[in-house]
Amino acid sequence: MTFKSGFVSIIGKPNVGKSTLLNILTKEKVAITSKKPQTTRNTIKSVVTTDDCQIIFMDTPGIHKPRNELGKYMVGKAEDSIKEVDAVLFVVEVLNKKLTTIELNIVEILKKLKVPKILIINKIDLVKNKEEILIMIDEYNKLMDYDYVIPVSAINEEGLNQVMESVKNILPEGPKYFPDDTLTDQPEKQIMAEVIREKSFNLLSDEIPYGIGVEIISFKDEKEGEILSIQANLYCEKNSHKGIIIGKKGSMLKSIGTEARKEMENLMGTKVYLELWVKVKIDWRNNKNMLKNLGYN
Ligand code: GDP
Ligand code: MG
Repeated sequence: MTFKSGFVSIIGKPNVGKSTLLNILTKEKVAITSKKPQTTRNTIKSVVTTDDCQIIFMDTPGIHKPRNELGKYMVGKAEDSIKEVDAVLFVVEVLNKKLTTIELNIVEILKKLKVPKILIINKIDLVKNKEEILIMIDEYNKLMDYDYVIPVSAINEEGLNQVMESVKNILPEGPKYFPDDTLTDQPEKQIMAEVIREKSFNLLSDEIPYGIGVEIISFKDEKEGEILSIQANLYCEKNSHKGIIIGKKGSMLKSIGTEARKEMENLMGTKVYLELWVKVKIDWRNNKNMLKNLGYN
């Protein structure tokens, strides 16, 4: 039996459902999903291993116009990550009738790549008239050929077997890069930081859209592995933001902590003791040293 393997990049505009798709394909919550775009700041790899194949998925931050250092970092990551892969999944959503400049840019980047490409049209659960899907496929096919075009609904888990089969078909013969039980090669610490960030995004209003950075300052086992003790700093950009994040009598910070702790306990399979502090660091998103400290290097 030949063994196939390879790195597969998931690329597409923010909010089209890349993280949702990745989570379901790998059946583990490793990438962060949110109603607000741009929450996936690092390229998180997750690994699916079967008898005859191993797929390493990479969730790329959305390609967009950079507005600050963090934005530049994210675009750079996205472009770097697709240069070295064995296949690309280009995810678009069926609600976008016309291609925007973002999709056109991605098409231009993809045209230059020699690797197999799969176009995934997501959120088909949202259209009543299936004809719209065909019209959309036409629009994309006019610009470039794809190895496969697959309409899916990530949320309803529709079409996902086809995605897996197609990926398997186009991957080259290759080695098992990671041990069987590997789900992700991201350090646990980084994933815990992403969980805290996700919960803050979900619970806070749009007043603090992308201004939160999470730094894990301590991460250790206690009571012979029965308890995982985590301490983290939440960085925001303004004093007024600090107040909002802490909330009335600390209620917001408490909610963020509770939600994050529950998810961490699920992910780690142990009790988690979590402590959070809120700190103001003016303009941290434009501070290269600060970004480095938070793991964006
Ligand atoms: P990303 O920014 O591309 O990674 O997008 P996310 O995976 O974070 O998803 C953005 C939003 O789209 C979330 O609210 C998801 O629940 C939603 N979403 C993802 N896939 C589907 C789908 O198949 N159908 C519908 N209706 N919503 C979806
Ligand atoms: Mg995402």
